[in-house]
Amino acid sequence: MIQSVAFIGMGAMGSRMAAHLVKHYDQVYVWNRNITKAEQHQQRYGTQAASLAQVAQADIIFSCLPTSQQVDEILNLLSPKSGSIWVDCTSGEPEAARQQAKRLAQSNVAFLDAPVSGQTIGAENATLTFMVGGERTAFDRAAPVMQTMGALIQYVGDSGAGFAVKAVNNMMMAIHLCAAAEGLSTLKAHGVDLDAALACINASSGKSVVTETIIPQKVLNRSFPKTFGLALLAKDTGIAVDLVRDARLSTPVTNLSHNLIQTASNMTQADVDFSTAVQLYETWNKLKIE
Ligand code: NDP
Repeated sequence: MIQSVAFIGMGAMGSRMAAHLVKHYDQVYVWNRNITKAEQHQQRYGTQAASLAQVAQADIIFSCLPTSQQVDEILNLLSPKSGSIWVDCTSGEPEAARQQAKRLAQSNVAFLDAPVSGQTIGAENATLTFMVGGERTAFDRAAPVMQTMGALIQYVGDSGAGFAVKAVNNMMMAIHLCAAAEGLSTLKAHGVDLDAALACINASSGKSVVTETIIPQKVLNRSFPKTFGLALLAKDTGIAVDLVRDARLSTPVTNLSHNLIQTASNMTQADVDFSTAVQLYETWNKLKIE
């Protein structure tokens, strides 16, 4: 029976996800490296800004941090109580999940890699997709809590499988982003109106989430609001490339897309939205996708 829930990482995703928990659980502890964000969360949503010692006493601990490295750092600082479950919603590395699961099992703590998709709007509306790897019994216990933050809670296999699915999903999104940037640059160079072109594409076989939402809402209007960092996308495509290498596959589009996203990330400030990757094409081709 889950009574107390903790959430580590009050970033763009974590803060919105944790806000739903108070509607279902009496004790919701939130922790953030910069404690001010946890205190603001407490004030705004009625959660409880907590120390890591308090977090360790929760029946279920969620985390949503940039990479598996930060999750390891926190794991070094707290020992969850026996019988609890750690649900890591970071888009992390499959091998890290296997190691983290093994390490926590020694203290009778289950670890689930449970990355999410649906962007910040999905976190806000509790419509996220959770792709979950780890022990099935732990999944069955944790699923009702994930349900309070998501629309699809999908078990995908053993430890690491959730992180693998997320990396591949984001790699496919990155490929769509590069494809859209190339297609729309071509049309722009030929003097075609991009709003009209997108109306056709979005009613045809070339459409994707990128053409349906990212390009119209972030690129064509030149707003590029930051909801998901470009450096985080480059991290995800890098994980996908690692998976390909481990399996000794030939995936030229995956490798090239990672190079493009990593190059775009290297060329810009760390804190920009992933949609700014299209500006790489704009610079090369001396045009604007607008
Ligand atoms: P943010 O950059 O908004 O937040 C990062 C969080 O991690 C902050 O709470 C930050 O704390 C904390 N943090 C950073 N470094 C450390 C550290 N060394 N020790 C402890 N805490 C640390 O990231 P997002 O919320 O956007 O992303 C989180 C994860 O979710 C990533 O893996 C990302 O790939 C994934 N994701 C993001 C989506 C999005 O649309 N944004 C969608 C789906 C998945 P502090 O406030 O102190 O800096």
